[in-house]
Amino acid sequence: MAKRAWVMVPGPIEFEVEVLQALGAPTASHVDPDFVDVFGEALALMRTVWRAPEGQPFVLAGSGTLAMEAVGANLIEPGDGVLVLSTGVFGDRFEDLFSRYGARVTVVRSEIGYGVDWEKVEQELSTGDYRLVTATHVDTSTAVRVDPRRLGDVARRHDVLAVLDGVCSVAGERIDQDEWGLDAVFTASQKAIGVPPGLALFVVSPRALNRFLSRRTKVPNYYCDWAQWLPIMQAYQQGKAAYFATPAVNHIKALRIALRRIQDEGLDARFERHRRLGEACRSALTALGLAIVPENEGEAANTLSAAWYPHGADAGTFLAAVREAGVVLAGGLHPKIAPKYFRVGHMGATGPGELLATIGAIERGLCACGVGFEPGVGLRAAQRVYWS
Ligand SMILES: *Cc1c(COP(=O)(O)O)cnc(C)c1O
Repeated sequence: MAKRAWVMVPGPIEFEVEVLQALGAPTASHVDPDFVDVFGEALALMRTVWRAPEGQPFVLAGSGTLAMEAVGANLIEPGDGVLVLSTGVFGDRFEDLFSRYGARVTVVRSEIGYGVDWEKVEQELSTGDYRLVTATHVDTSTAVRVDPRRLGDVARRHDVLAVLDGVCSVAGERIDQDEWGLDAVFTASQKAIGVPPGLALFVVSPRALNRFLSRRTKVPNYYCDWAQWLPIMQAYQQGKAAYFATPAVNHIKALRIALRRIQDEGLDARFERHRRLGEACRSALTALGLAIVPENEGEAANTLSAAWYPHGADAGTFLAAVREAGVVLAGGLHPKIAPKYFRVGHMGATGPGELLATIGAIERGLCACGVGFEPGVGLRAAQRVYWS
């Protein structure tokens, strides 16, 4: 039987054993006092990890897209002007999603591989026609990273809500939600948080909650309506059980363990580890002669890397040979360039050992494609940078 390969895609990631064990715990009622403690602690830890002591955390059963849906359904009313800063597929997804809730959506779309043109954003917001602006912290289709501080800053100055898609960044890239003035920051469990797919997680500022509370129209989505979920989250925060729809009990047990581990590592140490992994991975790929998809090193994500195939390398041959060497990588996601590049996830509990195994497998893949390079040159570059 073929050995299981190590999964180094940008979500789902490899999960820690203790987290996986929580998923197999015996059935507990969602109103069991022990579970009430678990859920309450998970919500409190979310505030710590998001650095949002003033924020209201929400945990819903679903994926990251459900978190996007919840933001759209609750913060948009028909006719609202929304500015989407798109650096890839996930920004583009927000255009369609917000439109379905009646928003008038304008997109400031970056060229593939480039970050946000803040001058254009400034100009657009100056028209005064907007109620909300959104950006993708790390767009997983391009590995481009956007500065959330600038998003918060520009939103404050123009008095609009700032929404950050942090699905590929929360707990991997630095975020200070309160300090940076971000009104909603959301993620999904299977990315840098490190819990199997199944939870939509977001923290909402008091300003965004006020916007929600002063809606003129009913939220046109039954499951996502914060009016249903707010009392539930508040009850568990206060050590009481409440019911609207059954929470994902075992996933929430796993979430508490994952968040505890993040807290134990320390957020600053964790961001620094991701920074070193990202830099080491990009150095290795560059040393192997590959070009990185993000054009500017300062805008390259640390949670995943994206690189163009060298001339003549075939995606299928490459990915199969990498898998044969024990590692699963992701192909391209952006429809305009999909067959031309691949992606490596290096978030969550990933350490230098897993990264080196991955670079070794990438060298095997390039060999299989007949690409010429000196074997070990990628490994040496990764080691030098990670341990420098
Ligand atoms: C993965 C991802 C999403 C979508 O999350 P799902 O869990 O796949 O629904 C949204 N935005 C970004 C940046 C992502 O990486």
